[in-house]
Amino acid sequence: MNINNGPAFIYLINSFWYKSKYERNVCLESEWLDHLFKKCEIKSKLQITEQQYQELYELRNIFQKILLQNIINQNHPIFDQLQENIHKISYQYQIMDKKLILQPKKVDFYYLIHKITLSFFEIWFSDEKKKVKCCANPQCGWYIFDTTKNLTKQYCCNTCASLIKVRRFRKNKNNQCL
Ligand SMILES: [Zn+2]
Repeated sequence: MNINNGPAFIYLINSFWYKSKYERNVCLESEWLDHLFKKCEIKSKLQITEQQYQELYELRNIFQKILLQNIINQNHPIFDQLQENIHKISYQYQIMDKKLILQPKKVDFYYLIHKITLSFFEIWFSDEKKKVKCCANPQCGWYIFDTTKNLTKQYCCNTCASLIKVRRFRKNKNNQCL
């Protein structure tokens, strides 16, 4: 899969595994951040401070916990922090192309957090939730957003798919030898 597919919150969750997958910590790389900004429709490059990185990691931990435990009770306290993220920014009306549109007052780090969190809420509490899956390679740990018609996608990438296929093939072969 193209790592850039899918909503922002899955992109953030998967950054956790980059280090082992590609032996680099992409979270600290500007390329990774650029894609995150793009996903969140942020045109300007935001400077992320060390403390803000920590906040991103914390947010990632929350998402991971929710997905791992499949927490769907909206009153669960784990959603409190996320609710706060949503309300951290304020909007204002602006006229663009003779149309009145709602714009964030400030496009800053909190807007980024707001957009990532929003991408989560939009999916997790909707019908789209069924598209959120863990890659079928148990050693992978990445999440995917399955946009296929019959929800048939199982793997995050070809590497994971062929790895499991080879393993399955070997297992069958061994069974035949017994
Ligand atoms: Zn995978």
